Amino acid sequence: MMSYDPSNIFARILRGELPCKKIAEDDHTLAFEDISPQMPVHILVIPKGNYVDWSDFASNASQEEHSAFTKMIGHVANLAGINDSGYRIISNIGNDGHQEVRHLHIHVLGGAAIGPMVSQR
Ligand code: 5GP
Repeated sequence: MMSYDPSNIFARILRGELPCKKIAEDDHTLAFEDISPQMPVHILVIPKGNYVDWSDFASNASQEEHSAFTKMIGHVANLAGINDSGYRIISNIGNDGHQEVRHLHIHVLGGAAIGPMVSQR
């Protein structure tokens, strides 16, 4: 597993070194707007702990962190008003997953029809 690099951009946001447009937070999780939205609604949900990927999170996060992370997805979908119209969650991991920021995150995308699940290669 790749080790966690504390200089990644989401770590800097969590430390308050960089601003973000916050949507919601709790003790374990932060949700904020993506700086380069791919859809009318594009929210990032991240654990506040230093986890690189799902393997790291599965091995090292507490039950409270797991449940907070999951609950935040439904919460921000409601806050953004996309629960009824629908949305997609995506989590890019590692090189094949094209993960640019190596702090575990979930994209919540909605506000318009997204199209088929995976684009043709
Ligand atoms: P990934 O490719 O790792 O799944 O997604 C990283 C996401 O982080 C991208 O959608 C990108 O637009 C977003 N992003 C990169 N830098 C910043 C930043 O400084 N602030 C915010 N809010 N989003 C960022």
